[in-house]
Amino acid sequence: MSLFDTHAHLDFPQFAEDRAALLAELKARQVAVINVGVDLASSRASLELARGRPYLFAACGVHPHSAGDYCPEAEQELEGLLRMGAVAVGEIGLDFYRGLSPKEAQEAAFRAQLRLARRLDLPVILHQRAAEEAFLKVLAEEGPVRGVAHAFSGDAAYAHRLVGMGLYLGIGGPLTYRRNEGLRRAVRQVPQERLLLETDSPFLPPEPLRGKRNDPTKVGLVALRLAELLGMKPDELAEATFQNACRLFGVRLCFL
Ligand SMILES: [Zn+2]
Repeated sequence: MSLFDTHAHLDFPQFAEDRAALLAELKARQVAVINVGVDLASSRASLELARGRPYLFAACGVHPHSAGDYCPEAEQELEGLLRMGAVAVGEIGLDFYRGLSPKEAQEAAFRAQLRLARRLDLPVILHQRAAEEAFLKVLAEEGPVRGVAHAFSGDAAYAHRLVGMGLYLGIGGPLTYRRNEGLRRAVRQVPQERLLLETDSPFLPPEPLRGKRNDPTKVGLVALRLAELLGMKPDELAEATFQNACRLFGVRLCFL
């Protein structure tokens, strides 16, 4: 059973000790991964991880936490990286929860990268936290986007609005958390062909691994919970979400 983890950060220092072994395990267990950049350095590292690994793909982008660094020179460098084989622009968006960069800078970097994605005809990987209304407003104003709302959390109404805009929803560890009944209710109403699996490794480990480091081999735990929720067989759910990821990111897989 192949699985597709559409959001991981394997270049982060949490994987410094065992990265090579983990990558070998992912290949052996047929877990495909999109490694997502959060700034220029991690975007470069994502491309490097993807090189020679046909089961691993890179997304390049500047996260709202780093939006203060976004400038024309940074954009030029980002575009160069994206043209080196990235499959998506991400992760980009708005995060008013941590507030690590000013709201205006976040919005400007978000809009600029949405336009860059359109120009390069690439899908986007979107991050949103505590900024729902501003996020929807930017997306509506910037026109149709192809992409995924990563680490989806929210109610059914919000899910409907995202799906209505043509977006996919990235479902990860929080789906398994006992208190997230509202999230499970929302996800149950999303058309199955718009659902993607993800881990956000090293963050957001699913039950029963909370408090531990997450990694893409754990995406199976999310798949099991989602299959149960939707009344599907685990291998059917795995296959459906795998095909959804291949469709959105325009990739074909090879574990050999
Ligand atoms: Zn992330």
